[in-house]
Amino acid sequence: MKKLILFLLPLWLLAEAHIFVLHRIDDNRYPYTNTSSKELKKYFDYLKTHGYKVVKLSTLIEMIKNKKPLDKTVVFTVDDSYKSFYKNGLPLFKKYGYPFTLFVYTKATTQKWGDFMNWKQVKKCTEQGELGVHSWAHPHLAKLSDEEIREDTQKAIKAFKKYIGFVPDIYSYPYGEYDERVKKIIKEFFPYIVNQDPGAIDFTTPLDNIDRIALTGEVNIEKKLKLKRLHLKRLNIKRDKNKIIEISGELIDNVPYVNVYLTGYGWKGVKVKDKKFTLSPNFTLKKYRNRVIIRYNYKIISKVILKEE
Ligand SMILES: [Zn+2]
Repeated sequence: MKKLILFLLPLWLLAEAHIFVLHRIDDNRYPYTNTSSKELKKYFDYLKTHGYKVVKLSTLIEMIKNKKPLDKTVVFTVDDSYKSFYKNGLPLFKKYGYPFTLFVYTKATTQKWGDFMNWKQVKKCTEQGELGVHSWAHPHLAKLSDEEIREDTQKAIKAFKKYIGFVPDIYSYPYGEYDERVKKIIKEFFPYIVNQDPGAIDFTTPLDNIDRIALTGEVNIEKKLKLKRLHLKRLNIKRDKNKIIEISGELIDNVPYVNVYLTGYGWKGVKVKDKKFTLSPNFTLKKYRNRVIIRYNYKIISKVILKEE
């Protein structure tokens, strides 16, 4: 009977996975991108005691493609290939036997910049984890021309071929910044792309736009693991250059209201009628990188929006 009920439920209701992103470990100079090894250990202990399995991103992608159950599955991704991860993060991953996916900032690694791993250290990381591509020069991709984006990507690919001998098929946007044009160009090179839009992963997650949750400072991991994907049929952001006129959408999930967030504007509760919602902030973006979040309890979906310059 239980099996029959499960069979009747839409697949995405069954479970979701969570992908976290780390940057620096035990490097207090940069509080916005730092996680202490003490915190990390706390997360690992929680995952261990609560029966979570930690897998590589490529494994999770296969699980999604093959519709394998995603419950209690967690992925750790690490952006920028900082030396502080090598020094303070890698030993902890080894100790717990957890894999990770390391996105290499290829220019910094090739040119042996002080804060970053060299290629030898990156290679060493593959004993415990796998690699992904995090651009060549870590540019603000949306500020580049189509050709400049291709050039940057090709340089990263060339470096991987030269120093590692193969090119991973997963890409991570520098700063988590992208728009439709950027995405289209990166897709010419990589089938799988991760962003930094906080959200949960289920079978409806597009593999060329995979959400990740940042773990910096002190985080309540239990709460993050409760997040579920809010399912939308569409999300429309009507803007006049940098003025956000309207945020509207149509939901698949049946919820009475949503909380909508826009950077600089804050949260607003919005009624849902016939599965549709509309908010008219008429708000001019102040920062370059902004976020729209749509949320109902633990259900969440979000999207980065960039200021035009
Ligand atoms: Zn980065």
